[in-house]
Amino acid sequence: MRFHFEGTGTHVTQRLASGESPARPFHYRTTPSGRTALQCGTRSLTALATEFATPLYVYSGDQILDRFRLFQRALVDRDHLICYAVKANSALAILQLLAAEGAGFDIVSGGELERVRAAAPEALDRVVFSGTGKTADEIDLGLEAGILAFHVESEAELALLAARASRLRRKARFSLRVNPDVFAETHPYISTGMSEHKFGIPIAQARRIYRSARHHRWLAPHGVSVHIGSQIRSADPFGAAMRRVVRLVRSLRTDGIDLRCVDAGGGLGIDYEHASAFDPAATAQSYLKAITQALDDLPARLVLEPGRFLVAQAGVLVARVLFVKKNGRRTFVITDAGMNDLIRPALYDAWHEILPVQPRAGRALVVDVVGPVCESGDFFARNRRLPPVQPGDLVAILDAGAYGLAQSSNYNSRPRPAEVLVRGREARLIRRRETMADLLAPEIPLSSSDQKTINKRK
Ligand SMILES: *Cc1c(COP(=O)(O)O)cnc(C)c1O
Repeated sequence: MRFHFEGTGTHVTQRLASGESPARPFHYRTTPSGRTALQCGTRSLTALATEFATPLYVYSGDQILDRFRLFQRALVDRDHLICYAVKANSALAILQLLAAEGAGFDIVSGGELERVRAAAPEALDRVVFSGTGKTADEIDLGLEAGILAFHVESEAELALLAARASRLRRKARFSLRVNPDVFAETHPYISTGMSEHKFGIPIAQARRIYRSARHHRWLAPHGVSVHIGSQIRSADPFGAAMRRVVRLVRSLRTDGIDLRCVDAGGGLGIDYEHASAFDPAATAQSYLKAITQALDDLPARLVLEPGRFLVAQAGVLVARVLFVKKNGRRTFVITDAGMNDLIRPALYDAWHEILPVQPRAGRALVVDVVGPVCESGDFFARNRRLPPVQPGDLVAILDAGAYGLAQSSNYNSRPRPAEVLVRGREARLIRRRETMADLLAPEIPLSSSDQKTINKRK
């Protein structure tokens, strides 16, 4: 067990149980009646799970705003815009929370544009549209909505953008997403900034492409963007990418092309494994320092696209233990949440802390925490030392606020979980649990005459 200080300076110091962290809004509290339970802010996860059932995602809106304000405060002296990466967690209520703070949004599909429109139509002019494969329809949606900029990832996409903009007679502001060819140490599936990746335009070609587009009637060179990957734990690659971008912007100035906007992308990571030692304020500070030092006195607006850093640690997935069983020498804790609800362990071999919501006395056991889905990849933890749990107990899978529900599916015909947002003393249901009727709604069963003709076909 380690000891930590909550807050700084004059704030109360507090002992935290193992697994708790000042970087997370989830802490154990003991009620006057002697019951200890994990809480989100002031709300007990036991009570929320009883009210809304499990599996259940619970988010701290307070923490999401705290993280957002870390960036806002650090950048007060600089023209900037923080475009939250919608794909990390696209709940409308979270988009509303951030829009009200002045956030813009980084989107990667027409669907995400519709989410911003539904949550905060006033923020559409603060939207940047990323993604390697935009369709003509998606480009039209963005043009009609008057978004801030398209992040263009190929010459063919720029040609399509020009064609759609001419047709709609709407000026398209664009930034080239350049591939700076820097190495960022992270999982290979979420590294994007090297020349071997599908993302962006090789930075050496960017100057020529900007020059070719400068006189197009319906294209307006707006800025330049990079995004080198996700869950990056060092500030260095961000600084290295930025220095290459700044060099490009300066060389374009000598050509008379004045880009007003430099977009550093997202990708700042958190510490999933050692959350108790993770300092979000210091992490944000060194990240921003690397970027702003590289920018130097360049007279351009800085855009950032954080996703994970804002929402990951604000969320947990609460699950109920169904069975505890032994197969040979292994002990399996089987929960009612599965890989369809949170795929990160299966997809990225990601590590998530797991805590019992109401800890029991007794010896910790080494277990595999798994779901009910028919896949051996359906696990949340393997060979994990976990305090004792019994069927009926609740467990919290931590740091699940980013790429959790956003990457969920209905695999095994499992309706997706409900979501609750906690803000101060309030807890609000922001997405109801799906029903089987939701899942079956788009399907078209064969009519009885179709069954005769199709099923009997030889
Ligand atoms: C995914 C993505 C982000 C957000 O990444 P995080 O690692 O969640 O911060 C930002 N920009 C672009 C273009 C992305 O694809």
